[in-house]
Amino acid sequence: MQLKENIKQLKPSATLAINDHSNELIIQGKKVYKLGFGQSPFPVPNEVVKELVLHAHEKDYLPVKGLPGLRAAISAYQQNRFGMDCTWEDVIVGPGSKELLYIAQLCCEGDLILPAPSWVSYAPQAHLTNKKSIWIDTAEHVKRMLDAEMLERTCKAYSDKKLILILNYPSNPTGASFSESELRSIADIARKNQILIISDEIYGELMHNGKHLSIARYYPEGTIVSSGISKWCGAGGWRLGTFTFPKELRWLLDAMAVVASETFTATSTPIQYAAVKAYEFGPSIEYYVQKSRAILKIVSQFVYNELLSIGLSMPSPQGGFYLFPDFKNFKTQLKTKGVNTSFELCKKLLEETGVALLPGSDFGQHPEELSARLSYVDFDGKKALALSDDHLDLNHIKEICPNVVDACEQIKNWLLEIK
Ligand code: PMP
Ligand code: GLU
Repeated sequence: MQLKENIKQLKPSATLAINDHSNELIIQGKKVYKLGFGQSPFPVPNEVVKELVLHAHEKDYLPVKGLPGLRAAISAYQQNRFGMDCTWEDVIVGPGSKELLYIAQLCCEGDLILPAPSWVSYAPQAHLTNKKSIWIDTAEHVKRMLDAEMLERTCKAYSDKKLILILNYPSNPTGASFSESELRSIADIARKNQILIISDEIYGELMHNGKHLSIARYYPEGTIVSSGISKWCGAGGWRLGTFTFPKELRWLLDAMAVVASETFTATSTPIQYAAVKAYEFGPSIEYYVQKSRAILKIVSQFVYNELLSIGLSMPSPQGGFYLFPDFKNFKTQLKTKGVNTSFELCKKLLEETGVALLPGSDFGQHPEELSARLSYVDFDGKKALALSDDHLDLNHIKEICPNVVDACEQIKNWLLEIK
């Protein structure tokens, strides 16, 4: 017996691998700044935790598509927050949106269009489901995001193919997002070319200005919105994700439910009951999200300014919790240190400073491009949330995120030394 060829080519997912590696180094007694992994620094809101406790005794399997009351709460939330036209029957709940993204690819015909850089797991999932990934290079674009012209060129080049586009904004890894006119232009091209859009809006609620727009408003008939409670509700480890469909794509929702019924059966029952409270989005949840955004905004501005000041370039942060600095201005000096790729850059930086980042190559970038993803969430979100509002400014940055401040200092000193 041996492994299948397509499995042999895979390695453990980069995000999870850097988290394990950082934790191992910490156990060995090393100081590590954990800017490699991206998970919410904030605790799950108290009232949601209380619901989980209240429902811990719920032991029966739930319907494959999810608890009807939760599906209703999610569709109301998608309507109220992002103007989607949907009902409870348009929603499916899964054990993390990652799993739903995978079974969507499993169920759908067509090649996958991915702007580079894109989150680490889309392309391996395409590989697992025998799909071709068509990468669109966004290097010439300041924001490193897809634009309508790039999409149109790709559609022309693959006019004989069925195409699926995964669009993720605010973006992991760039932290950038789209304006209304950018979304409208992309929607027009998608409609003209009958592209299926999977709009990964898992960081939508964490737009720093609180103004996330969904492309589902401009291309409702062809857009599935992917989201969940991992990021805005601090519950990555709870494993609950959501897909919201237009009526036109009900056939795909139903097919995904068949696959779900033969694989994961249903999402954890107590977690689904607790998630109802999160999606009701009452005043204290709203306050929690607002404060989370305000904290992430300050931290992102601090890191962005620090890195710019030393000569790194990157799109300016708009949402989520990532930055995507490019070290190209240090190319010559890094070469003398034996650093020629983003992988070598991150390895050397971790060895010499303890700062963990993820190489741009894990996000689809050319290995020699000296870019890396930085997650600025290595801080105690519970403490930060407890700070009074007048402490949420750059003067109090050391109080908000001491480790992130030190990590920036480490990166700056490291680069100054080789300058
Ligand atoms: N999409 C993006 C862009 C992400 O960063 C993540 C977080 N890992 C996911 C999807 C999956 O999140 P989850 O499975 O926790 O819902
Ligand atoms: N989304 C997180 C990241 O990009 C980690 C979780 C995961 O990859 O499943 O770092």
